Amino acid sequence: MAEKTMLALVKTEPKQGLTLKEVPIPPVSPGQVKIRILKTAICGTDMHIYNWDEWSRRTIKTPQIIGHEFVGEIIELGSGVTQYSEGDIVSGEGHIVCKTCRNCMAGRLHLCKYTIGVGVNRDGCFAEYLVIPAENVVRIAPGIPLDIIACSDALGNAVHTALKFDLTGEDILITGAGPIGIMAAIICRHCGAKKIAITDLNPYRLELAKKAVPDAYVVDPREISSSDLMRKMGLTEGFDVGLEMSGSPQAFADMIESMGNGGKIALLGILKGNININWDKVVFGGLTIQGIYGREMFDTWYKMISMLQTGLDVSMVITHRFDFKDFEKGFEVMQSGQSGKVVLDWAKEI
Ligand code: NAD
Ligand code: ZN
Repeated sequence: MAEKTMLALVKTEPKQGLTLKEVPIPPVSPGQVKIRILKTAICGTDMHIYNWDEWSRRTIKTPQIIGHEFVGEIIELGSGVTQYSEGDIVSGEGHIVCKTCRNCMAGRLHLCKYTIGVGVNRDGCFAEYLVIPAENVVRIAPGIPLDIIACSDALGNAVHTALKFDLTGEDILITGAGPIGIMAAIICRHCGAKKIAITDLNPYRLELAKKAVPDAYVVDPREISSSDLMRKMGLTEGFDVGLEMSGSPQAFADMIESMGNGGKIALLGILKGNININWDKVVFGGLTIQGIYGREMFDTWYKMISMLQTGLDVSMVITHRFDFKDFEKGFEVMQSGQSGKVVLDWAKEI
């Protein structure tokens, strides 16, 4: 007889922490697939939910299974699903879109007005099984390590942000050497950027960034001014492209000051709080600031998989791996800031 329950990490009550508990396995409706989860990765969003911060209190309805970064194996197809087979190794887009709003109708699915977030607005993937619409599934080419696929949501954020503007031969400033900032630096190097600077305040992350992109200028902005950094790098007019990946309003304001005229900024970081921006620089310097949300469906995925097949190596960004039953250790190490990506193992690949 088929199993009826599964283990899952559930936000059971509106308070800090998560509970590993047995819950019903969700049924598969027409157009959906059931995925046996092999590995998941912990995202900053999961940390917010774990910590039950102000955003989570506004957003999460308990009880809910959290998590949205995963790799798994399709084990059941809902009726009408013909594009996948049982046994396919897949990840999936964590944004379920409405397909009827203006942006969806125009093919700009990542800008859907009514996006539902897996593990945010509905049950997620920190579980033995996940059921999602087949349209959200992404089949992963053979040969890409499962650990990397587990991080493809975050890697996709890095790809989307880094590729927003032309990088080839350009000087790039990345603020924030979190997992996404470091992955973006690796992508910039892969895509032929000229000089790359990456900033952070956390020594562990600065070290990780140095290992990931040895020829990048990896700096703590409290130790070197942006004008000294530019001098050291031989830049006379400022950076061509900025990738804001820290969420620090100060880093964003400093980035604007560091851009050359006509410079382009892709803003992924969710800025905590307000700060005065030099709007004169934005206007008279002709800067472009582009907000980035999620991944483009599904061109970001296409490019990400293509780059992974042609030598993009982000493996050093994964610093910790735990069994899902030791999830507390994973959340602890993420909390400490002494980590890159943290992967949880849920099952063995058959
Ligand atoms: P993270 O929090 O792990 O990394 C951010 C890094 O920025 C940290 O290492 C921190 O030490 C560093 N930092 C803080 N202040 C800084 C400063 N003044 N200068 C330089 N660095 C500084 O986050 P992450 O998971 O790598 O994600 C990066 C950002 O992207 C976060 O703000 C996250 O909330 C955001 N995000 C946005 C989307 C989206 O769709 N827009 C999706 C995922 C993540
Ligand atoms: Zn929509």
